[in-house]
Amino acid sequence: MGAALEIRNLHVSVEGQPILRGVNLTVQQGEVHALMGPNGSGKSTLANTLMGHPAYEITAGQLIFDGVDLLELETDERSRLGLFMAFQYPVAIPGVTVANFLRNAINARRRAENPEDKGIPIPAFRKLMTEKMDMIQMDHSFAGRYLNEGFSGGEKKRAEILQMAVLEPRIAVMDETDSGLDIDALRIVAEGVGRLSGPDLGVLVITHYQRILNYIQPQFVHIMLEGQIVESGGPELALHLEEHGYDWLREKQNGTGEA
Ligand code: ADP
Ligand code: MG
Repeated sequence: MGAALEIRNLHVSVEGQPILRGVNLTVQQGEVHALMGPNGSGKSTLANTLMGHPAYEITAGQLIFDGVDLLELETDERSRLGLFMAFQYPVAIPGVTVANFLRNAINARRRAENPEDKGIPIPAFRKLMTEKMDMIQMDHSFAGRYLNEGFSGGEKKRAEILQMAVLEPRIAVMDETDSGLDIDALRIVAEGVGRLSGPDLGVLVITHYQRILNYIQPQFVHIMLEGQIVESGGPELALHLEEHGYDWLREKQNGTGEA
């Protein structure tokens, strides 16, 4: 049995306002889950909370990763355990290339494990990075780009997928770009996840795009409405959403629809 990310009865407030109201979700290594829901339903709040963003206050519930209580851990410690969070608010870092950024990320992890570590030798790093770029069919020139400087939504996702390929997390959480619906970005995430997924990787893809199945094949689909997961199922749930939208769920929630 591999590692699991377990979200148990999670309640989160932002600026004193309750946003998540009892979320339960488990992602195992080897599984691909999609979390869907309309804008404002709390999807990014969940992603930010998983990352340990200080603005998101956990008022109840538990976050467990591989049996370890995540609430006790800082963001970088969570990442060292093998929980990957795509950069939610990608900032341009002047003068830092994608390659530099990735090498720093690897070295930070190595030093956390061994304070004496001298860092990954450059030839070894180059080899690792080109292997991973080939694996996800990425042009090598991408490594020399300045991180997020003038990146499109799709290029930000490309950088995230490369980061994920290099860091080899056990569970990855990919939130949609903050620019909202960006089909190019979703396609890039889908291709990357398709190439990287396997028994050692669990993925939670977060999107409000209802035609997600055209891009990605999750085994599990969950729908969030007003801070709660109100429905879980297989890919057929995404198909149903594509056809019927979210209204049937709202009606079901309000008890006005058919049971
Ligand atoms: P989604 O990602 O599903 O579109 P969000 O989690 O971004 O939804 O937002 C859910 C609710 O939480 C919204 O009402 C939003 O305004 C609020 N919210 C989320 N993050 C913040 C924040 N940092 N500051 C204030 N309100 C926030
Ligand atoms: Mg969001």
